[in-house]
Parts: sequence; structure tokens; C-alpha cells
Amino acid sequence: MKVYGLIRFDIEDFLTRESDEALEFIMDVMDEFHMPASYSIVGKKAQILHEHDRQHILQRLKTKHALGFHSATHSEHPTLSEELAEMDYEPGVKRFVEREGRGVDMVAKLIKPPRYFTQPGGNWVPQAADALAQLNMPVFFSDGWNSYIVTSPQPMWIEDIVHWSLPVLNPKPFAMKLPDNLDEAVEMVEKAPSQLSQGDAFMIMVHPTELVTTKFWDAVNFKFGATIATLRGAPLRSHNDMVETFESFRTYIRQIAQAPNVEWTDILELSARLKPLSSPYLGNRYELLSHLLKNGLGPAVVHGESFSAAEEVLSLALYCIGATSGQELPRVKAPRDWSQDNESVPGSSLPPMTFEGVKSGAGEIIEHVRQCRRLPHGVGTKLVSIENWAYSAVFHLSHSFNKTIPQTFSLPLTFLDYVKEPSQLHWDWPIFPPEFQPYRLWRDTQRIAWSLKPAQYRH
Ligand SMILES: [Zn+2]
Repeated sequence: MKVYGLIRFDIEDFLTRESDEALEFIMDVMDEFHMPASYSIVGKKAQILHEHDRQHILQRLKTKHALGFHSATHSEHPTLSEELAEMDYEPGVKRFVEREGRGVDMVAKLIKPPRYFTQPGGNWVPQAADALAQLNMPVFFSDGWNSYIVTSPQPMWIEDIVHWSLPVLNPKPFAMKLPDNLDEAVEMVEKAPSQLSQGDAFMIMVHPTELVTTKFWDAVNFKFGATIATLRGAPLRSHNDMVETFESFRTYIRQIAQAPNVEWTDILELSARLKPLSSPYLGNRYELLSHLLKNGLGPAVVHGESFSAAEEVLSLALYCIGATSGQELPRVKAPRDWSQDNESVPGSSLPPMTFEGVKSGAGEIIEHVRQCRRLPHGVGTKLVSIENWAYSAVFHLSHSFNKTIPQTFSLPLTFLDYVKEPSQLHWDWPIFPPEFQPYRLWRDTQRIAWSLKPAQYRH
């Protein structure tokens, strides 16, 4: 039984000078124990290191295999979510690329091009799914604490990027409470192999600045949607406390490096072990129909191939026009406009469409996918919702081989189970304004979840 462990360092504090020493110390310790890690840096932090003549730190980061981008300015208002909260999706993607692209360029110029993204604090936004592909960072290294997608030790594709929402196996808060929670932190890692399954991954999240400070640098300056008049460094630990904390971090790494059945790696190395994103082959239609009748529309592995709900619907459309199995599906992404209507579970209220209506809808779906590589959100002149079309297609296609299907059944949208409920989201991140509730970001996440599908490792 072996599991993968990932340590992510979020290098973000551009206001506390002493945090640079903490970063250097951390890199020393990681070298000493030959431990890989993923280093995510904020654009403004890279700039400050440069301005402070810390070239040697930038050079050292350049030698790291996994260098990531942790936003342009992290907690400065408006933060990413604050800015995109009320925007339409497409302009939101454009804004993301504009505001974050400058930070990516800064990191690329001063260190090297970052290859993965991790959102600052609670600023997980669905627009990243499209923006990251444009910014040449196809890996979204999120975490179970902040992601809108449910926590999982396995990666998933969403639109064109791979998304990780790993369980975080360290105390919260962690490094800021060292050395007091050292034993607890080590124990959490040692227990991981017995709590996870073979091949699962988990993560550790550390901010280097925590080793030298007693309060979070951004809470000191940007709390509750406001910015203080004069920005300042976070309050520092006493000298003795720092020495003790450094030593306790070193002990932590030494001990977890030896944890049995944990293979330490970095996010890019692990992502490279995944099969590339591809469209599934159209399989045996009875197999897919039985699967859908049992599980509803959602991410699944059927006959060894990964399917998204969007690909399941496209498969149904192809079956309706008599396509034979074996062909590769065209690439299909989430509908551009879609929201869950109040009927919620297709089949629970409306009668199915006629088979003629289903067949003509199938033609529309295939044509729409051919033109824009997306699922339409509805079909026909009355714009039957795509999920009710899918329900009707399953109804008619199933009756041709199984007379025992009841006249009423449902086709739940199980892909929605992969999006956390608003009450579980980190909207109470202390940097956000009080009562910050960006429902629109959450609804767009539900929409793009049409494209979620399991990412599989190569064997
Ligand atoms: Zn951060």
C-alpha cells in the first residue's frame, strides 16, 4: 500500500522581510532530506525579492522542478473572487487572464515560467478552468480546504485542465503553531497510508512566513475587505521562538521523510503520470445505458474510459442517430449557458419527449458540438433542457432493449455532487468582506461540472 505525499509551499508574504529567511531555511531543510516539494509564488513576492537583491533566492527557486503561480497579488483588494463575483463568465475569464497574466510574466521573467496554479486563500474561481489553459498552466493544484470541487485524493479533468482538490493532512493552523503541534502533525502523515487507498494522494500546506510570524501577514493588512492605510509586516516571533520553530520544522521534515508507505513527490511530476486528456471511444450502448440508469449523469469510468456528463449526453445523441461503437467522440465541453432548473431531477415531473423529438434533438446536439465543441443547454423550438432531452433519450433507447424499464424513472445529475454546497465554501476567508457570498461563481462551477471526469494514471 503506497500513497503519494505532496508538500506545497505558498510563498506569498511580500510585506514581512523576515519571511525571506524562512523561505531559505525551508529550502535548506528540503535539500538536506532530499525531499521534493511544490513551490507556489505570488508575482508581487517575486518582484519584492528582486527589489531586495535576493537574487540567490530567485536562483534557487529556478532549480525547483515544480514552480507554480499563487496569483499576482494574493490578498490585495479586489481579490480574484471579489473582482469576478458579479461578472459574466466569458468577461470573467478575460479579466482573470489580464490581471493574473501580468503576475505570471513577472515570475517567468525573474525565475522561470510557472507551470501550475494555486488560488490565493478562498479565491477559487471557475473561470480558472478556461484562463489557466490560456496562461499555459494546465494544472490547478487546489486543496480540500478552499476548492469548490469536493475533496478527493484523486485528480479530475475539468474543461481542459487537471484539477487537484486533495485532502490536507496537517493541523489548521499548522506552521504558525509549531512547535506545539509537531507530534500531531507527524502523526497525521504517518496515518495517511492506512486512511487512504493505494495510489491516492494527500497534501501538506505550509506558508514559509509562518515560521517567523505570530499573525497572518495578510490578515494584518487586508482584513474584512478593507486595506489599512500603511501596509506593514506581520508581528514577529521572538528570536528564541524562531530558533525553536525552525528546529521543529526541521524535525517535522526529517520524520515525515521516513514515514512508511508514503512516496513524496511534486505536483508536476505526479500530473505527468496521468494519461493525457482525451475523448473516450463510443462503447457498447447497453453498457452505457445500464450505467446511466444506475448512476445518473456524472463523471464515470465505463469500459475503462473516462466519461464526463457532457460526453455521456453526446454518446446518447450518437446512439440516437445510429452511430456504431468504436469511434472516438469529438471533444465536448460544458454548455455555455446552463443552470439547474427547479425540476432538478429529470424525469421526476415531465413526461419524456417523443422518439421523433429525441432524434431531432440528437441532430441538434451533434451539430452544436461540431460547431463550438460544447454541449447546447437545450434542444428544439421549445428549448427542452439538455438534461430532460438526455432523460428522454435514455427512456427510448432503453425501451428498445429492455421492456421492464418502468414508465417513470429518474436520471439524477450526479455531477452536481462533485460541487460543494455554499455552506461548505471558504467564503468566510478573513480577507473577504463580511457576508461575501459569490453565488454566481458557485453556479458557474455547477455548470462547468458537466465536463468533470476522472483523470487516470498511466499503468
Ligand atoms: Zn496563499
